[in-house]
Amino acid sequence: MVVGESGLGKSTLTNSLFLTDVYSDEYPGPSQRVKKTLEVQKTALSITENGIKLNLTVVDTPGFGDNVNNDKCWDPIQSYIDQQYDNYLNQESRVNRPVHIHDTRVHVCLYFIAPSGHGLKPLDIEFMRRLHEKVNIVPLIAKADTMTPDECHDFKKEILREIQMHNINIYEFPDVSDEEENRLQKKLKQRVPFAVIGSNVVLQINDRRIRARQYPWGIAEVENEEHCDFKILRDMLIRTHMQDLIDVTSSVHYENFRAKKLAGVMP
Ligand code: GDP
Ligand code: MG
Repeated sequence: MVVGESGLGKSTLTNSLFLTDVYSDEYPGPSQRVKKTLEVQKTALSITENGIKLNLTVVDTPGFGDNVNNDKCWDPIQSYIDQQYDNYLNQESRVNRPVHIHDTRVHVCLYFIAPSGHGLKPLDIEFMRRLHEKVNIVPLIAKADTMTPDECHDFKKEILREIQMHNINIYEFPDVSDEEENRLQKKLKQRVPFAVIGSNVVLQINDRRIRARQYPWGIAEVENEEHCDFKILRDMLIRTHMQDLIDVTSSVHYENFRAKKLAGVMP
């Protein structure tokens, strides 16, 4: 699921992550426009990664800040997440429980933070505080190409400081025993919150086709690890941490929901 203020590049990043194949002939070209999202919108897609077919669902949400009054702008998102847990619980509690429960639970929430350099907005804090016990939150710095590397570095530190200060629990990379693995995890952890760049434009440079944003002073490459953390994010989501995101959703967030529901604390 992608969440955050309107215009931060949620739809563009989603496209860059999954929806269009850079290397296919059918790629529709750079003029493709993304429209504004007005309601929670599900898109099912299947991608092939290392020869393995993955079925994913992307949930796009209406951007915050479109209204003068942002009171309760998290409501549709919160109810969507709860609704999926409810569906799951209902299937699980049937007398004739299905062998395969159709799992529509939200396994990760990519939260987009504006590249202001000034830290989190009150709305960011409010949103994350409301949702952190329900879903794995992975914070992202949107439009990282608008910051210098130094600004970005400082901004990351400031965001983490505020997240800690407000006792927000973002998704934590699991500790592993294997040394090699551990090094990899450390590298990932150090990059949080991931700074990302999205683009619908594919440039042909020599014999390479790269997704990038072009400026008079140069190009910002989406998949270049020196330009942003896009590649790390993508790898984490569909390769290295997909199973852990599913496991944590099931064993922590869903259990939380179930316990509250059964205790009658929740409507
Ligand atoms: P959404 O409302 O969050 O879904 O945002 P969109 O994906 O519709 O993007 C809003 C605008 O920001 C569009 O004009 C995009 O071209 C632009 N945009 C998207 N991603 C980036 C980015 O990484 N860097 C910059 N500079 N602009 C971006
Ligand atoms: Mg959008």
